[in-house]
Amino acid sequence: MGTSLNPLLNLEYEPMMENLGDDYYDIVAAADFPSYFLRYRNDRLLPLLGLKPDSVTDGDFIAAFGQFRGGRPFLALRYHGYQFGAYNPFLGDGRGFLYGQVRGIDGNLYDLGTKGSGRTPYSRTADGRLTLKGGVREVLAAEALHQLGVNTSRCLSLIETGESLWRGDEPSPTRSAVMVRLSKSHIRFGTLERLHYLQRPDLISKLLDSAIAVYYPDIPDNEDKYSQFYAQLVIRVAQLAAQWMAAGFCHGVLNTDNMSIAGESFDYGPYAFIPNYDARFTAAYFDYGGRYSYGNQPYICRFNLELLQKPLAMITEQSSLEVGLAQFDDYYQQHYQQLMLQKLGFESDLGMIAQELLTQTINLLRDTKISYHGFFAELAHEFDSRWREDQELILAKATFSSEIPDNWRSIYHQCLNQISSSNRDKISDRLKLHNPQTALLRPLIESVWESISEDNDWQPFISLLDELQQ
Ligand code: AMP
Ligand code: MG
Repeated sequence: MGTSLNPLLNLEYEPMMENLGDDYYDIVAAADFPSYFLRYRNDRLLPLLGLKPDSVTDGDFIAAFGQFRGGRPFLALRYHGYQFGAYNPFLGDGRGFLYGQVRGIDGNLYDLGTKGSGRTPYSRTADGRLTLKGGVREVLAAEALHQLGVNTSRCLSLIETGESLWRGDEPSPTRSAVMVRLSKSHIRFGTLERLHYLQRPDLISKLLDSAIAVYYPDIPDNEDKYSQFYAQLVIRVAQLAAQWMAAGFCHGVLNTDNMSIAGESFDYGPYAFIPNYDARFTAAYFDYGGRYSYGNQPYICRFNLELLQKPLAMITEQSSLEVGLAQFDDYYQQHYQQLMLQKLGFESDLGMIAQELLTQTINLLRDTKISYHGFFAELAHEFDSRWREDQELILAKATFSSEIPDNWRSIYHQCLNQISSSNRDKISDRLKLHNPQTALLRPLIESVWESISEDNDWQPFISLLDELQQ
């Protein structure tokens, strides 16, 4: 495979991070692996990079994103972070690096970041590797979330690397892999927290000058820009939290090193989609106190934003940051309501009754423990325009019909009758658009993984991706 002809190696890389200088990273090398099997290539992402899928061979993927040929400098990014509330100054890219940055055809600059590419100065005692199961889980999460309208990173490739790994949370030995993810940015809240810890406001403003120009191009270049950046980040994070909540997604590890300054969702470890509505549901087995439970996500996001004021107060007025943060609750509520109304088939023209419909829907889901995704999937599947005439027909054919209380049927019926007829015609399409039939629940992921681990059968994984992407 000649490197000179490999389209992945010949992308026009724009080294924004590299140009900032080595205060922000260490140059590292990728590990050599015993073997390389391309298990997943995300052809849906290639056009964003200006590439035609059939112009990129599997060998090109392996050379670029498994063997890391091509002589680019790889940057292990430096960062700290609050983990479960405790400050940790010993973090940083411990099993990944920034491979390169590329301009998408949409005009955005994207990071290609690795996971499982070998040890770095930040690996501490760990092996710098990613388990194949961890890679499979991240590919699935990102595609499912993207399809649900969540602002998320996505995986570009997953290559199995032929090593045996030992993990406490997987039957071991377990298979190894290296993944490449496309994301808006790998600059984390913890990147700025590290610079505060080092008492380097000069490095904070230098980094943000560049990051604001790239990720917040609408912010004018004046002395107010840092507080404007913060205010816009608050809005993006509030919207992201609302997207997770509506999708029924629990990220699991919302430490500040997993929070992106571009407001994008990324880094999927012990995540889970909720089986039923339960605010106390936790995804990470080590989250004993439920700090990152499903229902805590908006509060934790707000709290992490508050922590971020510490580094930012080194370069801008604290009072202006507080003004920015004060917008969080309103933006969160507004966006959550809008997303949930869409899942129920409506737009924001419901008026006063919208909040009541939402409250009653949440109460119903919480009290009955009906499957969160099943409820909306059946609503989409069963919807019938005759529901408007006869309230008894609403969800009458659903498997959980007997559990639906009269007051919920009554308010849904009122809503159907309240909206304009033109809007009413769109309910069915809207329900189908926002409520996929397939949910990425844990038992489904486990069954896909079982086929891979027992028979090396990748067909269920590919079929599941197809279903999720429909
Ligand atoms: P995470 O919980 O995946 O967000 O990772 C937290 C920190 O631990 C980051 O600094 C990672 O780079 C590091 N880390 C996690 N797993 C490994 C590993 N197997 N080898 C080296 N570093 C790791
Ligand atoms: Mg992380």
